[in-house]
Amino acid sequence: MKIVAGCDVGSLTTKAVLMENKRIKKSAVIPSGPKPAVSATLVMEQLFADTGLSQKDVAFCVGTGYGREKIPFIDKAVSEVSCHGKGAQWLVPSARTIIDIGGQDCKVVKLDDNGKLVKFVTNDKCASGTGRFLDVMAKVMNIDVSELGKLSAKSMAPVTFASICTVWAQADVIKYINSRRPAEDICAGINTAMANRVAMLANTVKVEKDLCMTGGVAKNEGVVKALSKILGCKIKRIKRTDPQLAGAVGAALYAMEQV
Ligand code: ADP
Repeated sequence: MKIVAGCDVGSLTTKAVLMENKRIKKSAVIPSGPKPAVSATLVMEQLFADTGLSQKDVAFCVGTGYGREKIPFIDKAVSEVSCHGKGAQWLVPSARTIIDIGGQDCKVVKLDDNGKLVKFVTNDKCASGTGRFLDVMAKVMNIDVSELGKLSAKSMAPVTFASICTVWAQADVIKYINSRRPAEDICAGINTAMANRVAMLANTVKVEKDLCMTGGVAKNEGVVKALSKILGCKIKRIKRTDPQLAGAVGAALYAMEQV
């Protein structure tokens, strides 16, 4: 059986998967550097080091993400919207609406029963509603972004923000820290503010069941829970693999169709 690859160069992380026989053979996530070509090469080198394979063993490679056109070794480039849709539906076959929240943008993608793209909307103009908002707030809180979800689960009285603008919300977080509000209440407020912003975007297209989340922010259970509550719709978790890999998985699935 031929081995194929998907490589997703995002604004913050670069992801890659090797697939064989419709199964993920190996995956890797590394931080993105300033040059997409270098990040893509490094993530593939990690996969090859882990598997003992090399580029010549890859029958077809699809690139995606904002840096896709700059990846030197790919056979084809496919948009992030298409790859996230494809990857998410392979991981959660019942998914019809996919909310992808990465470091620099947020996308809501709607698919039909055959996986065909019906509609999509994107927010890539403003940091609020993207992973960057959470990263900035976690830094002000002096915690790792991966702790926001767990901490917020303990909250009994989440704080509120006067504005969802990242700059103003940051000032509010500092104000709450100084007034000794418990960290879990501030974290819950941050996750809810994020979810409110994403829900505004999601409501511009009618969310249809099943709803699934991809991208790094899907690992923040606080945002997932808050978004599910605001939209009044259960969010199906991706359990088979890391949701951050969905775009790279979709790219590898497109590659598989070519061989
Ligand atoms: P991109 O594709 O744009 O590079 P990602 O899909 O990799 O973005 O998502 C990056 C975002 O995911 C970060 O901004 C961060 O907020 C969030 N994130 C990454 N890892 C975790 C984690 N372990 N727990 C919670 N959130 C995370």
